[in-house]
Amino acid sequence: MKIVHLASELAPIAKVGGLGDMIFGLSRAQIFQGHEVEIILPKYDTLDLTLLEDLPVTLIEAPELFERGKIYGCSDDTTRFTTFCRLALDYLKGRAVDIFHLHDWHTAVAAPLLKEQYKELAAGCIFTIHNLAYQGECKEPVLDKLGWKSSKILEKGHYNLLRAGVVYADWVTTVSPTYAKEVLAQDPFLKQYEKKFSGILNGIDGSFWNPKTDPALPQNFSSKNLTPKFEVKQYLRRKLGLSPDDTPLVAAITRLVPQKSPELIEAALHHTLKLGGQFVLLGATSDNKTERHFKHLKQRVEKSGGAHLELTFDEKLSHLIFGAADLFLVPSLFEPCGLTQMIAMRYGALPLVRQTGGLADTIFEKENGFLFGPPTSEALVQTLERAFHLWKSSPDRWHTLQIAAMEGDYSWDLSAQAYLELYKKVSKSKNQELLKG
Ligand code: ADP
Repeated sequence: MKIVHLASELAPIAKVGGLGDMIFGLSRAQIFQGHEVEIILPKYDTLDLTLLEDLPVTLIEAPELFERGKIYGCSDDTTRFTTFCRLALDYLKGRAVDIFHLHDWHTAVAAPLLKEQYKELAAGCIFTIHNLAYQGECKEPVLDKLGWKSSKILEKGHYNLLRAGVVYADWVTTVSPTYAKEVLAQDPFLKQYEKKFSGILNGIDGSFWNPKTDPALPQNFSSKNLTPKFEVKQYLRRKLGLSPDDTPLVAAITRLVPQKSPELIEAALHHTLKLGGQFVLLGATSDNKTERHFKHLKQRVEKSGGAHLELTFDEKLSHLIFGAADLFLVPSLFEPCGLTQMIAMRYGALPLVRQTGGLADTIFEKENGFLFGPPTSEALVQTLERAFHLWKSSPDRWHTLQIAAMEGDYSWDLSAQAYLELYKKVSKSKNQELLKG
C-alpha cells in the first residue's frame, strides 16, 4: 500500500510530544511490513535533519509560515497548518495514494479537501485524534484563505478544524480504546460518528527506547541483567546533585500543562521527600505562571539533596531519567494514550498512574505498576505509600513486577496491524463506492 502521513510533528526531528513519536514509530513499523510510506511535514527552521535516519520524509516549504523558531504557539497557527494541508495536497496531485492518514486538527482539513477538491487522488482517508483537548478553532478568514468552508464544522461562531477530520474522514481513530470510550461519552458531536470511530493503542519504538542499547545511558541493562540500572541511578544522582542514599527514585517527564496535573506532581514530590525518597522532574512549559511557580519550587526543594527539577525539554536527559528511575509518575487528568508509562516500563521503572485513557489500557495493579482513581492528592499519596512499602518490604516482589513491566510487548507490531486492517476496510468500501458511482 502507498500510505501518506500528513503531520505536524515527527520524532526526533520535530517533536513536541507523543504525536511525533507516533508518526515515527508507526511509519517505521509500516515500512517494515513492506508498505510504501511517505511522511509529509512542514519545513520548520528548527528541524535537525541530521537525526532523520532513513525515513521517507517530504518537507513542504513555506518560510513565512514555518520559519518561526518553533512548531506551535503562533497567533496564526490555524492559517499556518491549513495552508500546509493545501500545499501538501497540491504537491501530491497526480500521484496514486491508497491511504491518507491525517493526525490531529493541524491536518484534519485535508479530509474535506480530499473529498471535494482532490477527488482524483481517490484514496481512503483515516483521521487520528491524538488529543481532543486541542481542536484548532479559527475564524472565517482562515477558511476564506483556504478556499473551503462548511457549516458542518461551525461551533458557537467559530470553525472547528478537528471536526473537519471527524465529519469527512472515512474512519476516525483515537490512540487508545479507553480514551475512545471516554471521549464518546463526553462529546455529543463525536457520538454522532460513533459508527466510524475506534481506539487503537499506540506503541513505542523498541529500538529507539531500548535500555540494552541506548547510547544515552552510561551503562546498558536488560531484564536479564538489571544490576547496571543501579549504576545508572547513581550516575544520574551525581549528575543532578542528589545524595547517593539507597532510596526509591521517583521521576516524572512531562509537559507541564493542566492535562498532566502539575499540582499532583508537586504533591507527589513533597510526599516522596516525606517518605525519604528522591524526586526528579523533567518538565517543560510555555506558560509563564507555571514556569515561575516551578522555578520557585525548585529553589525551595533542591537544597535538601532529595529533589531535582529541570524545567526544559531535554531528550537525552529523558533517556537517563527513564534508565535511573524506580517509580515513574503519570497522574494525568486524562491521557489519550500516554507513552511515558510504556517507555518507563521498558527501562524497569514501575509506573504509578491515574486510571484513565491509555494509562488504564497499559498499567495493571499487581502486574506491572500502581494505579489510583480519583484525581486527588489523597488518592495519589496512598498509592505512593503502597509503592514505597512494596519497595522496602518485598524487593523480590518488586523485582518480579519490574521484569513483567520490562518484558511486556509495547511494540508497534500489533497497532500497525490494526491500522492496516482499517486501511484495507476503508479502501475496500471506497472501491465499492467507486464501482457503484
Ligand atoms: P504528550 O504527547 O501528551 O506530551 P506522551 O506521554 O504521549 O504525552 O508523550 C510525551 C513524549 O514526550 C514522550 O516521549 C516523553 O518522553 C517526551 N517528553 C515530554 N516532556 C519532555 C521533556 N520535558 N523533555 C524531554 N522529553 C519529554
